[in-house]
Amino acid sequence: MKKRYALTILTIILLVSVLFSVFSFQFKESDIPMNIILFIGDGMGVSQVTTARIYRHPMHLERLKTMGLLTTYSNNRFKTDSAAAGTALATGYKTDNGVIAQSPDGEKFQTIAEYAKTIGKSSGVVASTGITHATPASFLAHKDSRGSQAEIAEQIAAMNFDVLFGAGWGYFVPATVEGSLRNDEKDLLEVMRMKMQVVINTDDFETLEDEPAAALLERTNYFPKAMDNPKISLADMTRKALQILSKNNKGFFLMVEGSQMDWGGHSNDVNYIMTEMLAFDDAIGIAMDFAEKNGKTLVIVTADHETGGLTLLNGSFTEQTLTEYHFSTTGHTAEMVPVFSYGPSASLFGGIQDNTEIGKKMFELWK
Ligand SMILES: [Zn+2]
Repeated sequence: MKKRYALTILTIILLVSVLFSVFSFQFKESDIPMNIILFIGDGMGVSQVTTARIYRHPMHLERLKTMGLLTTYSNNRFKTDSAAAGTALATGYKTDNGVIAQSPDGEKFQTIAEYAKTIGKSSGVVASTGITHATPASFLAHKDSRGSQAEIAEQIAAMNFDVLFGAGWGYFVPATVEGSLRNDEKDLLEVMRMKMQVVINTDDFETLEDEPAAALLERTNYFPKAMDNPKISLADMTRKALQILSKNNKGFFLMVEGSQMDWGGHSNDVNYIMTEMLAFDDAIGIAMDFAEKNGKTLVIVTADHETGGLTLLNGSFTEQTLTEYHFSTTGHTAEMVPVFSYGPSASLFGGIQDNTEIGKKMFELWK
């Protein structure tokens, strides 16, 4: 009898502690952001941020006062690629390099961009590369190989995202159309036109109304470099995206990728990195203007990995010069990447964590 009594007490204690842990996990209403804007600087390590800060002080990035660092390793590699890192940020799960938002054996991981739609929010991405490229694709599609951009395009066209701004219209037009990057006759732009505005050139971008829209402004993944002064900048696309998404009074998710710091790193071109960083920072400024006014928007700025192993050796912050630097690789590195945050629950993203925590915590906030 005594034993049974002790067992009952134990069960009650266990139940109470489980209930307590469930309830203590709930967020206060004011801690739950209505909107989340996630910026990903592809290839943006601390040295890339420092390079930009030589030429711009203060940066818009400095308006995000909470900071941390993320480990970026993938499921099968010490050095991640953008697909595995994008998946970690978008879903909270690790996968192998090259895999888009699913496990190495094909189990699909829901992305935060998809989840936002299921709870009535608007959702979209902006990138300075093709929207079927690894990082944006990790938020919009599921595929065993990042190279399957034509199939990723099909999945994107079948969904109901509200903003798709970037490049890569060639993956969306039938093989018979000049410039197509497809091997079949599928006309995905036509599929998308049934549910949203669709434009493929910069003049038409200016005419977009504040309704769901896709703007694929280049044929391939090669969005113009910031140093070539593209007619539509990452900041322009971010501004328009916010006008469209903020019309939903239930809120929105937006991912903005500064895609080409990575390419600057791969080509060991410090000027390319610096100019892309400043364009990325301009876009962050647009988002921060919105978030500061809105008050219910969480802004997170981070990276998928560092590229180039960039080390800064000499120069001057007062004279805005960088005279000596070194790249240790033309590939990615496993350096931790910075994460900056602002707004409701920003403190969740401070400190040292793994990159999967970003995805996990965005989901927790909206569950
Ligand atoms: Zn890369």
